Amino acid sequence: MHYPASKLPHIGTTIFTVMSQMANEYKAINLSQGFPDFDGPSALLNAVGAYIAKGMNQYAPMSGLPVLREQIAAKVQRIYGNPVSADEVTVTSGATEALFAAIAAVVRPGDEVIMFDPAYDSYDPAVELNGGRSIHLQLQPPQFAIDWAQVKAAITPKTRLIILNSPHNPTGSVLTAADMQQLIELVRGTDILLLGDEVYEHIAFDGQQHQSLNRYPELYERSFVVSSFGKTYHATGWKIGYCVAPPPLTAEFRKMHQYLTFATCTPMQLALADILRDEPEHADHLPQFYQQKRDLFCSLISNSRFKFTPSAGTYFQVVDYSALSDLPDTAFCEWLTKEVGVAAIPVSVFCKVPPNMRLIRFCFAKGDETLQRAAERLCAI
Ligand code: GLN
Repeated sequence: MHYPASKLPHIGTTIFTVMSQMANEYKAINLSQGFPDFDGPSALLNAVGAYIAKGMNQYAPMSGLPVLREQIAAKVQRIYGNPVSADEVTVTSGATEALFAAIAAVVRPGDEVIMFDPAYDSYDPAVELNGGRSIHLQLQPPQFAIDWAQVKAAITPKTRLIILNSPHNPTGSVLTAADMQQLIELVRGTDILLLGDEVYEHIAFDGQQHQSLNRYPELYERSFVVSSFGKTYHATGWKIGYCVAPPPLTAEFRKMHQYLTFATCTPMQLALADILRDEPEHADHLPQFYQQKRDLFCSLISNSRFKFTPSAGTYFQVVDYSALSDLPDTAFCEWLTKEVGVAAIPVSVFCKVPPNMRLIRFCFAKGDETLQRAAERLCAI
């Protein structure tokens, strides 16, 4: 028996799985994989249980429950002023599925897809599996801002898609209104499509406004805008996300979604629809909630030998460890987990060209006491 050659020969197990397993094995404080160590609103948790007990346990409609899609459309209108209808919303099994479905819907063999390194790890394999070619541009520390002249130079007749991620995982940078104007100029008069990974849409700090593609009609007409309830409701394990896109793109997106998962978990969709209707202000409190955690974590590690600029968004903090070690970042994270008892994510795994700084990422979506214990260990190195 000869098994076929791998379709993704250079891909192993994701760093998130590797580091969380290592954290468990060595009983380290897990600041690696991004997930909160606290629950979302109890009304939401109870509603899921109640819907299960009521027998709401069969397939949801393929595109998502209308009650949820309507609430998502209302939220997009309220926050971003985009007058979308529920027909432009598709509920997916996490943002990961939505990203894959969007890429699969539009990327053909030979198409080029521009993405920015460090880039979230699911983009590149999705492009490759669909025969596309990823064009990796570098975000330079410490701002990790997009160099629009570089983007312009990278555009060719084969450019099908640009993938944007703001607030940005892993660096915590946030696109500005000026960035969006540059993007508008760049794509005007072209057929280039946009994929906005906006899963941290409600986690932008210091009063900054999240620059959703939904805010700009000229951009929205060519966009898939992806988000995830996992981040917003502290429930990453539920894997419920969604994609908002204009009708022609939604039609193609749903063709992929219906054969990737068909439909998404029913009782959770019902519960999320309820909380969006009953507590729309939940999302408005998130920036403050996570900003306090960022500030606490940054002040706790301010006496360490790590160097950093506080994150502008997300629940991640990138730090430079060059004053502590000459180890490559993957080896440093292994050492940190095993010897210091704190797990982190190496940033180079998100980069085609290794960054010229020694960077690792900590997740600060943790209880204050956990952050304190982790910081004590980090300051002792
Ligand atoms: N997005 C999360 C992170 O960045 C992890 C998601 C996953 O494990 N696939 O840490």
